[in-house]
Amino acid sequence: MNNNCNTCNNNCTACEQQTERVQFTKEMKKDYTILIPTMLTRHFKMITKLMGVYGYNVELLENSSQEVIDSGLKYVHNDTCYPALLVIGQFINAIESGKYDPHKLALLFTQTGGGCRASNYIPLLRKALAKAGYSYIPVISLNFVGMEKTPGFKLTLPMLRRMMYAVTYGDMLMLLINQTKPYEIEPGAAEALANEWTEKLANQLGKTKKLKYKLITDTYREIVRSFAALPMKKEKKVKVGIVGEIFVKFSPLGNNDLENFLISEGAETTMGGLVDFAMFYVCNEIADNKLYGTKKILSKVFKIAYKLLLKKQQDMIDAVREESDFRPFTSFEHTKSLIDGYIGIGAKMGEGWLLTAEMLEHLDSGVNNIVCVQPFGCLPNHIVGKGMMKPLKEKHPEANIAAIDYDASASIVNQQNRLKLMLANARDIMNAEQEIADNTVEVENTVEDSKEPSLV
Ligand code: SF4
Repeated sequence: MNNNCNTCNNNCTACEQQTERVQFTKEMKKDYTILIPTMLTRHFKMITKLMGVYGYNVELLENSSQEVIDSGLKYVHNDTCYPALLVIGQFINAIESGKYDPHKLALLFTQTGGGCRASNYIPLLRKALAKAGYSYIPVISLNFVGMEKTPGFKLTLPMLRRMMYAVTYGDMLMLLINQTKPYEIEPGAAEALANEWTEKLANQLGKTKKLKYKLITDTYREIVRSFAALPMKKEKKVKVGIVGEIFVKFSPLGNNDLENFLISEGAETTMGGLVDFAMFYVCNEIADNKLYGTKKILSKVFKIAYKLLLKKQQDMIDAVREESDFRPFTSFEHTKSLIDGYIGIGAKMGEGWLLTAEMLEHLDSGVNNIVCVQPFGCLPNHIVGKGMMKPLKEKHPEANIAAIDYDASASIVNQQNRLKLMLANARDIMNAEQEIADNTVEVENTVEDSKEPSLV
């Protein structure tokens, strides 16, 4: 039994919070339902299904009403990171929904293991559960650095491999929806196709006994071809890159449905995937060895993982390039190289240098309009996001960046007005560029005409 503190996760006696941690045991695996919170619905749906292969009964939470925020505010201090407040709110709201037997429930939550507060979300969750009267519900930590061991839950290599493919599939669907939804002729066609694929892929990952590499790469190509076959309007739209703190960037609950708002305002959105975040995480472990001399063996393992993830990303890039006219992902190696002269690889709190790298990547690929989202009071991301805007704009004066903060009391109207202002600037620039391009063509045609030999 682990006696670490429910509040700070340390084994000390400095405060009165020290209580026993409730473990998720092997016996519980048989008849307990494990709830996981949402961030990226499609990715997580696939992960939920594949965990069934390993005997876990997992359910993805999709409750996202105001009640979720209210539950979070009730059991978590309002100064706490907004993503923690939302996820804890989502768990408690689900427990109290009457849908489950709380005595047969376990909660699964990720722990990054970094110096950021994300490592402390689990103790916060346990504290909230105790406050709400559910201290008997076991919490399982999903982490890759051995932070907490759980007897009834084991992250095995085959399971990790399936999870990796759930992430690549999810990223692929995200990339393709982003490039089709704003242009679809039949409203809802892109989402419907993505839903169909999510179902199919979840079944593939959750049912296929031997998951062959060839099946995965063939599936990428099949997905791309199906999206390329969607009838689409030929229009030019303002492109907006979304960067920021991972939860607020990806979760509609965290960002007040940012993507759909931008699409409804006539924009096309684009963003780096979850694979990039995984590679960022792996890079940090390698950098820690270089900078602080952490265990060499771990660094070797992470170097192998990095190469593997790069290869998986390249498979997706090849499929998009060879099967369609869609813009593929940018290789993470290139994204990473862009930070030279801006920020060091030691800046890894929150989304660290990745946030700056993603802004640079958008600018590098000609997407000058960027929304940088972060939870209100998220110090690490304010530094690598807002804090980097000045040096970024000095070298890229064309950058049109809006930084938007999110928390339970932020005004949606205020957020949307700022987004509209950014879009208005973007449209003015796009129209002016179009005018210059049209005039250049006209001048070139006139010059060509004057070169025609006279017939008389
Ligand atoms: S990145 Fe920001 S929001 Fe996330 S845990 Fe760290 S401080 Fe909190």
